[in-house]
Amino acid sequence: MNFSDIQNMDHEFVMQTYTRWPVAIACGDGARLYDLDGKEYVDFTSGIGVCSVGHAHPKWIAAVESQIHNVAHMSNLFYTVPGVKLAERLCKLSGMSSAFFSNSGAEANEGAIKLARKYSFDKYGAGRHTIITLQNSFHGRTITTLAATGQDKFHVSFMPFTDGFKHVPAGDIDALVQALSDDVCAVMLECVQGEGGVVPLEYDYLQHVYRICKSRDVLLIVDEVQTGIGRTGNMFAFQGAGIHPDVVTLAKGLGGGLPIGAVLAADDCSKVLGAGTHATTFGANPVCCAAALAVLEIVQAEMEQIAQKGGYIRAAIKSLELPHVREVRGRGLMIGVAVDDIKPTDLLAKFIEEGLLCLSAGTDVVRIMPPLTITYKEIDDGLTIMQSAFCALK
Ligand code: PLP
Repeated sequence: MNFSDIQNMDHEFVMQTYTRWPVAIACGDGARLYDLDGKEYVDFTSGIGVCSVGHAHPKWIAAVESQIHNVAHMSNLFYTVPGVKLAERLCKLSGMSSAFFSNSGAEANEGAIKLARKYSFDKYGAGRHTIITLQNSFHGRTITTLAATGQDKFHVSFMPFTDGFKHVPAGDIDALVQALSDDVCAVMLECVQGEGGVVPLEYDYLQHVYRICKSRDVLLIVDEVQTGIGRTGNMFAFQGAGIHPDVVTLAKGLGGGLPIGAVLAADDCSKVLGAGTHATTFGANPVCCAAALAVLEIVQAEMEQIAQKGGYIRAAIKSLELPHVREVRGRGLMIGVAVDDIKPTDLLAKFIEEGLLCLSAGTDVVRIMPPLTITYKEIDDGLTIMQSAFCALK
């Protein structure tokens, strides 16, 4: 099939929910991707934070391959080794006490919301079910996680949304305190708002939120779907802030390219979801869990490098003094380049022409999220293309 065959078939048979770039990827290696015609691209997207260990990592392939030969799927009515090993590993790395496995970030957040509401219901009875989230947040595309998402543009067309969510401005402690009425059971936030434009929340603010939640027995849910598994230079972004949430949600980079999410619960609420209260057919799929175990091992070995490479990219972009660039921000390898007087998508189109895949976020941000294993050579090649494209569009 050539590119136009694929595009025509997509337009005919696939719901057109995505605005796709005119590129069909055939294969990848590390932080390089190749389209059907063999054109090479540096990958600054990692599948929107999914391909944390790059493309075709030999250890990741070996783990997946070996598990497929054993058993590809078992229902959750039986035990498997990869599921329990992964739960143990995640608990040890995060300081949490138990895990539930989902298939995506939205589902992990649904699980966390159910957990928080049941925790409160079991302890305080009905009515204490409201969850505070932040303006500009993103928590997923299900009806409930859209309600949780603090961006009005998502609150159209699909009414009625799930009740019981309040949105307060990010970084504003007074607004949060004011919103903390007696019916609130949880606060949910991202330590770096990803889809909202790569906006890191101040550590001071996160510590303040943490202390207020603790003092009122309001659960703190940290959505680490985008920030987790090494992305920000810590295994989990909350660790950088020195806080200990009650619930943590994961997905994206956890499976390194296979679909898996997780809800992690701290000691006090680790047993809230008991038998029959929550389930999903594919949860703890052994192949996905084996992939995730390989990811954790690879990412742990890369951890120091991630912060350094992130700092290197941010410093390099600042020093290039590129036209249109207003601000370079982020943590680790989750980087936002805020631009003025140009649409990020115009830049992305130019990058593609020159052999670089990149992301946008919010309305005015070019978002860089390469594989965590990216080499300095791959980084430099990507930055050279960025510089040339920015200058061509000045
Ligand atoms: N939470 C955050 C912070 C995200 O960035 C995303 C996806 O971008 C989600 C949740 C939803 O994850 P998924 O697309 O896997 O459902």
